[in-house]
Amino acid sequence: LNPVYACLPVTVFERMSQLARAHHALNLGQGFPDDAGPEPVRRKAAEAVLDGWNQYPPMMGLPELRAAASRHYARWQGVSLDPEREVMVTSGATEAIAASIFALVEPGDEVVMFEPIYDAYLPLVLRAGATPRFVKLTPPDWRLDEQAIRAAVGPKTKAVLFNNPLNPTGAVFAREDLETLARALAGSDAIVVADEVWEHVIFDGRAHISALSVQSLADRTIKIGSAGKIFSMTGWKVGLVCARPELLTVVAKAHQFLTFTTPPSLQTAVAYGLDTQDDWIRGMRASLQAKRDRFSAGLRSAGLEPLASGGTYFVNADLAPIGVDDDVALCEALVGEGGLAAIPVSAFYAEDPVKTVVRFCFAKDDATLDEALRRLSRFL
Ligand code: GLN
Repeated sequence: LNPVYACLPVTVFERMSQLARAHHALNLGQGFPDDAGPEPVRRKAAEAVLDGWNQYPPMMGLPELRAAASRHYARWQGVSLDPEREVMVTSGATEAIAASIFALVEPGDEVVMFEPIYDAYLPLVLRAGATPRFVKLTPPDWRLDEQAIRAAVGPKTKAVLFNNPLNPTGAVFAREDLETLARALAGSDAIVVADEVWEHVIFDGRAHISALSVQSLADRTIKIGSAGKIFSMTGWKVGLVCARPELLTVVAKAHQFLTFTTPPSLQTAVAYGLDTQDDWIRGMRASLQAKRDRFSAGLRSAGLEPLASGGTYFVNADLAPIGVDDDVALCEALVGEGGLAAIPVSAFYAEDPVKTVVRFCFAKDDATLDEALRRLSRFL
């Protein structure tokens, strides 16, 4: 295993953000947008703090938020959810992932993950005492391969952690990929923990295909969403968990002992936003798509090859054209000498990391992106 995982590591995001602060560098590392988020939603939260109830809300979440989430997912993803039995609110998607793992997994069980793996998954799986099994996805398409998944799934597999769209690569899995996953899992009892936090951060007119909308996966899926990503306010930490009642009940039991509940003001505001901000969401997609294109063109001018990104805040750059084969060393030098923070993609691998790719967050205003590109060109 990658030594970074030998014990609970400091996340690569925290490490790079600390370095960015220490060097007064521009931070295109940790993924958070410059955008302030929809004003009416922020206003609702402020009003709710001033005028509303600020004590513990129900453990499962405010009924109005669970109902709004059900309407939102029906409208956008064709998913039908009973708000009272199939929707729960958590303090962010990371809590939802932790609650799902702690609910499903016993020491000695196996959990399947796709590499590159979002950074929180493996430490949580290891702390739960489970054995990780990896399926390597390969660039440039990162498609799912049925045989590779079959080879990783066995009688001890309790869960498959599946991130769509995929952080860090920006790959967006289509319905056929989800059907491939369903076929590969036929005959197994594995639960799919579908981390869909980037469901609305998706470009080029694509539609997000939720695992819950695929009939052959629906009964074995825990879908996880994030209000922080939907409304460009990553500090809000309001997560949405959707699953069949039998499955959600188990995850709810773990959630009780992690955070129990989530600030009611934020839940009220997110409920309002899920019902009223469809146009804002479409505008956010268009704006981020333009930024992706602006930044990718700039990478090309700087001599790096941008890899295709169909969603997320991220574009990856291939270092091979400039002959660099150590992404960590490059990122450390770039932040220290070049004044620009980025994320080495090798941090998303447990075994045999790809060391020639760097992740940049393009969800920043254009002046910041242009300055970042100037610094990058100067450094290279
Ligand atoms: N999801 C964010 C990213 O990928 C990081 C969140 C965090 O810092 N834990 O950059």
